[in-house]
Amino acid sequence: MEKYDAVVVGLGPGGASALYKLASEGLKVLGIDRRREIGVPIQCGEFIPQYHEYSKILPEVEEPYLEIFRKMPMKLVSNETKSVSVITPSGREYSVNFDGYVIDREAFDKWIVKEAVDRGADVMINTVVYKLGEDGTVYAKGKSGNFEVLGETVVIAAGTSSTLLEQVGLFREVDEMNLGHVINYQMAGVDSDPSVVEMYTGKEYSPGAYAWIIPKGDGVANVGLGIRYPYVEGERDINVYMERFWRKHPIASRKLRRAQPLSYVGGLVPVGPPPDKTVSGRFLSVGDAANHNIASLGAGIVTSSIAGMAAGEAISKFLAGEVKLEYYEDLWRRLLGRALENGYKLRLVVDLITKDDKYTDKFMEIVGKDRIYDLVYTKAPSNIDLLRIALNIVKGGA
Ligand SMILES: Cc1cc2nc3c(=O)[nH]c(=O)nc-3n(C[C@H](O)[C@H](O)[C@H](O)COP(=O)(O)OP(=O)(O)OC[C@H]3O[C@@H](n4cnc5c(N)ncnc54)[C@H](O)[C@@H]3O)c2cc1C
Repeated sequence: MEKYDAVVVGLGPGGASALYKLASEGLKVLGIDRRREIGVPIQCGEFIPQYHEYSKILPEVEEPYLEIFRKMPMKLVSNETKSVSVITPSGREYSVNFDGYVIDREAFDKWIVKEAVDRGADVMINTVVYKLGEDGTVYAKGKSGNFEVLGETVVIAAGTSSTLLEQVGLFREVDEMNLGHVINYQMAGVDSDPSVVEMYTGKEYSPGAYAWIIPKGDGVANVGLGIRYPYVEGERDINVYMERFWRKHPIASRKLRRAQPLSYVGGLVPVGPPPDKTVSGRFLSVGDAANHNIASLGAGIVTSSIAGMAAGEAISKFLAGEVKLEYYEDLWRRLLGRALENGYKLRLVVDLITKDDKYTDKFMEIVGKDRIYDLVYTKAPSNIDLLRIALNIVKGGA
């Protein structure tokens, strides 16, 4: 059986970044993904902040943990955006300046894996890991049948619906309150401002979450929405909400009048707090598999990559005998803990007001443009303030 310093299961942004870091440290690493092609299908809105925004959103994260985003070639960027607009159920629009990139996620995921391979990583695709042994045996099934490899350490970065975690004592509690069901169409013929990312709120279209138009330029955009089932009353098919948003939303439908789909994907986004435990024996969980996602936004590309970099560093130091593997847990909490916690708290505030569209409108009217900034930037200081405002609205009615 071939033995590796680390085996990485799943090569989305989290696993690919771990693979990259591990290979950069000169370790013998193998990355495995069940997909036939890295990054395909693209289950993503593809929106990330521009590099200079990280010091505001994630002030605890310094280099080298952002290395992927510093080195990312501009050819991976489809479009640059300048602001984010939140549109309330009654159609009011609140905008904040925010420099973003809409990336080509398929090319992005492939690029990280390529960089890891350039540094010596081995990769297997079209290969599903179905079992993990306590001794680090990774049981997989590939094109030519079943096989096993041995990992001194194993990174589980297999996304939201991974069942591997429980096998190794890494449980990630998921209830429907903490899970966004999302769909995204890539569409052509979209008449929206290419410099603006639009987020639409309203129970009729995206109960418990929001809908989006994320412009990729040249009339192409990612158009999608999320729902959370505890907020769904009546119709449970997410496609019905999408159809309604596309054809009937008073503002969005005008921009989507000529829009035609190029691709369609569905997926899950974890919007709960991170689990208490992300290290068990020789196993580490990374990215969506560990709820490394800003819960108020459902954004996880950057945070998963940072967690992957942290996992790579921790394994490297662990194998050099410098630290225990639990160092990973301390490290990602130091880098991401505040932002993830704030995102989750903000989601709880938003939970209160999304119960009723009138509450959402009133809330936005009171908090206004300044605090939308806090929502977009996942800021801490005004959390309590926002919660107080939300509670008052709910108690008094709008
Ligand atoms: C529709 C949609 C839109 C989104 N939009 C945005 C956005 O605009 N911005 C943003 O920041 N975030 C967005 N997100 C969230 C973001 O995509 C995730 O947070 C991010 O991809 C998490 O990265 P990851 O590496 O943890 O997991 P994933 O990207 O899910 O990668 C997991 C990988 O593991 C592989 N895998 C799973 N099980 C196995 C197995 N048993 N064996 C082998 N391989 C396995 C899968 O094939 C997959 O490649 C969106 C999510 C969805 C679903």
